Amino acid sequence: MLTVNGMNILNRTHLEAKDGIPYFENPEIKILGWVIHGFLTRQGGRSLSPYHSLNISFSNGDEKKTVSSNRDRITEAFGFDRNRLVLLKQMQLDGILTLKGAAEANPTPLKYDAMITDIPNQFLGIRTADCIPIFVVDRKRRVVAAIHAGRQGTALQITKKALRKMKEELGCSGKDLLITLGPSIGPCCYEIDEKVFLKEWEPFSIGKGMGKWMVDLARINMAQLEEEGIKEDQIYRFDLCTRCHNDLFFSYRGEGRTGRQLSFIGII
Ligand SMILES: [Zn+2]
Repeated sequence: MLTVNGMNILNRTHLEAKDGIPYFENPEIKILGWVIHGFLTRQGGRSLSPYHSLNISFSNGDEKKTVSSNRDRITEAFGFDRNRLVLLKQMQLDGILTLKGAAEANPTPLKYDAMITDIPNQFLGIRTADCIPIFVVDRKRRVVAAIHAGRQGTALQITKKALRKMKEELGCSGKDLLITLGPSIGPCCYEIDEKVFLKEWEPFSIGKGMGKWMVDLARINMAQLEEEGIKEDQIYRFDLCTRCHNDLFFSYRGEGRTGRQLSFIGII
């Protein structure tokens, strides 16, 4: 089982900014040179409370015009066309899209919770407010994947399925993968009811009694990675709880009605 000591812990010191947009970056991805990525925060946008300020969700009640302007600020800051930012209609399921061509002209909502591509200039975006944004990079085959892992996706083993799809469809090899888990709600704040608790999560959870569990979703996803042959030194994690750090992140558990932060990755 994965141990804390063996993992590569990233933290708040990895916060940088581009044109007033703060973001976290894994230096190990940055040095590759052919991929850009960022785990953005809630800061640097124009949305008003309770979506303040860099909300990137069009469907939670915020002004659509403001959300568009937030999106444009992001794509301008990071230097790519807004039409190249591919956003999913995240379903809290385990659908995984392999992007083989440009997605910009796609007329229908993309009902998936993960994306994989080997095509340059397609920036895969994941929206979260407590769930885990996970990026996978195949350093050799030059493939990237972005995964949205919440409780339901985690229960459906979306992370494990995404890795399998990378191997089966794009010829990726486990040993070449570099995985980064972005900020998400931590076991300090993530309480769930036994009705939705899975027995296999017990090693990563603390029973609170009265049918309540404090669950470490990130660690459950890391266990899925381990089951796919990923070694501890291939896994990087931003160990920042979105609910504890409400100044930096939107937190659904902490706020209820709130915005969504963007995390994105793409091949340049
Ligand atoms: Zn917390």
